[in-house]
Amino acid sequence: MLPRTPDQRKAALAALGFDEIGRSTEGRPLLARRFGGAGAPLLLMGGIHGDEPASVDALLDLLPRLPPAPRVPLWVLPAANPDGLAAGRKNSARDVDLNRNFPARSFRPQHQPGYFPGPAPLSEPEARAVAELVARDGVRAALAVHAPFACVNYDGPARDWALAVAEACGWPARGDIGYPTPGSFGSWLGVDRGLPVLTLELPPGPLDGFRSAAAAALDAALIRVP
Ligand SMILES: [Zn+2]
Repeated sequence: MLPRTPDQRKAALAALGFDEIGRSTEGRPLLARRFGGAGAPLLLMGGIHGDEPASVDALLDLLPRLPPAPRVPLWVLPAANPDGLAAGRKNSARDVDLNRNFPARSFRPQHQPGYFPGPAPLSEPEARAVAELVARDGVRAALAVHAPFACVNYDGPARDWALAVAEACGWPARGDIGYPTPGSFGSWLGVDRGLPVLTLELPPGPLDGFRSAAAAALDAALIRVP
């Protein structure tokens, strides 16, 4: 049985040897762990939108399946927005859409209602912690788990990777999510920095409704990461 509450998820990660890489606006720890040997890792991130708890659970579900020595090293950050997750709300405690707060060239202060990007790129501690993690070891590629669109969106040179993941889970690969995403994680690392970036959009609802497809997607992502 997977942990269900934010506190239970946090306790599970601490027990698995996850380290605090920063703190949220409300002081909750951001927990991440590196797996595997030397070299630039694949970054796996979930829960940057607090109303997408299945994205956290999909990464927690992956951990017991990780091989002792993954083919590529990994950084796993399952819950990038712990304040939002605790409140069951998409945005951070400062009502920032953290997936608009990255230092992409597309960052702009103008926004649709509910998509406040913050006053400046990396103004928010949660996004800064992600950026510091990326700067620490570099990354070879990144995968952010979201919901609820049931597709495999990609940025940067990640088309073949996306197609492999899409084939494994049955959700379509998409080069365009259908709306602009200024200041997003994918715009920053994929579009601007030319890294392969996948946005794995799970279907709506709890992980139990699509656990095996999500597992197939993540397993394929690890095997086929460029
Ligand atoms: Zn999302």
